[in-house]
Amino acid sequence: MKNQIDGETLTCALIAHPAAHSLSPLLHNTLASRMGINLAYTALDVWPEDLEAAIRGADAMGFLGLNISVPYKEAVIPFLSGMEDEAKRLRSVNTLYRSKDAEGFIGANTDITGLKDAFDTTRVTIKGKKVIVIGAGGAARSVVALLAMEEAECIYLLNRDKDRAGRLAAGLKAELGYDKVTVLGLDEYQQIPKLTGEKFLCCQCTSIGMYPDTEHSPIEDPAFFAQIEAALDVIYRPVETKFLRMAREAGAHTDNGLKMLLYQGVHAFERWCRLEVPEEVISDTYAELSRALTHKTSVVLIGFMGSGKTTISKLLADRLGEQRLDSDAEIESRVNTTVKDIFAVRGEGAFRAIETRILRELAGEEREPFVLSTGGGVPMKEENRSILHEIGTVIWLKTSPEEIYRRVKDDDTRPLLETGDKYQTIVDMGNARSEDYETAADVIVTTDGKTPEEITEEILMILTSREAA
Ligand code: NAP
Repeated sequence: MKNQIDGETLTCALIAHPAAHSLSPLLHNTLASRMGINLAYTALDVWPEDLEAAIRGADAMGFLGLNISVPYKEAVIPFLSGMEDEAKRLRSVNTLYRSKDAEGFIGANTDITGLKDAFDTTRVTIKGKKVIVIGAGGAARSVVALLAMEEAECIYLLNRDKDRAGRLAAGLKAELGYDKVTVLGLDEYQQIPKLTGEKFLCCQCTSIGMYPDTEHSPIEDPAFFAQIEAALDVIYRPVETKFLRMAREAGAHTDNGLKMLLYQGVHAFERWCRLEVPEEVISDTYAELSRALTHKTSVVLIGFMGSGKTTISKLLADRLGEQRLDSDAEIESRVNTTVKDIFAVRGEGAFRAIETRILRELAGEEREPFVLSTGGGVPMKEENRSILHEIGTVIWLKTSPEEIYRRVKDDDTRPLLETGDKYQTIVDMGNARSEDYETAADVIVTTDGKTPEEITEEILMILTSREAA
């Protein structure tokens, strides 16, 4: 349903300073639209001296609810008629909603539950983990509170201003009785004991690396990242910060702050509208937010048969809201013959000529950006490689021969594997093609040991950081 603003429209807003670049309006207007609720949400930049007037004014004007962000999560407390227990305990409010029994607004903290939901969507568990948290501001406060509630074994809390980190640790002890925090300066990370046989979970909660400061990470020492098993950066613009890139390159599972934003918003929306948002609406909204953050040129996936091009292209197209194309399917529909028949009747040479012609057509057509998965032999021709670059960003899904063999050994639909020793054919073809794949690729993404969803997430991050660069 398209939002139609009229006399019945319910009104919600974010109050922050600054507020202009917030994704919250897109988040809540998408939720309202998908849920078929006549609700409009906007972002209001309120100066500190006007905070009380803004809250009272929103109440007087019948706003259904508000979100509160930096720097007002504590400052708003005196203007509330009630508070949920968790918000009271943490002295941090990000959501105001109306109660049936009281005048004014009730304050809630959905940052922590949102963060918990975000963690729950990953394979990362917190209980019993040794965790490094970088930063001691508002975002770090939510993160350490969740870590304490979920029984992290211990927390190393690093911050440029060590006293601020000390105050955060003291607050955690007073509010939640959690006392397993070691406070360190940002440059004292080498004092964290080295682990053997296990690794740290690491949460990056500073604003370092946030757009446009994309070339910095609070720690840039590769030895630090070698100790990290999973990394969360609360930043989502860019989608992959330098911190996340270094963690990913060191082999860590990585996540940005977009799901944290999403779920705190969902919990706020549920309080305003007194309903539960279904999973499919949450994932549509996430896709909408991802689209707003990612780029708008076509993507070309190259790789050996069995490298996951078809599956990944479907997931990626879905997430980008773009059409998915497949070079073999385009050939079949445009020449009205199956690839198998072209190979059988006219031979590989004729097939390759048709393939190049169809790619050239695709490159020349005026159309919205799309995600193209290509046949394994496409990058072998120099002419094709330059056409692929005309089409868009070329990503090589790089998979080991062992993994490919495991995936395709029982598949009889691959013309090139119909004769001889399948494993040896895969090894030989891999050796013959690797150099051309590498030359063709703008980006190489390894796929062994990763799920299609993880690979898709990695590609989305890469696309956004290329866009921001
Ligand atoms: P904040 O309260 O102002 O805290 C900023 C943190 O960054 C502090 O730890 C600060 O260290 C550190 N920092 C800033 N510049 C630094 C520098 N040049 N060198 C070293 N440390 C530096 O901000 P916040 O509310 O915690 O927000 C932090 C980030 O989280 C922002 O990028 C924000 O967009 C993001 N965030 C995301 C979500 C989400 O839903 N995903 C929610 C909230 C915030 P000092 O204490 O030493 O100054």
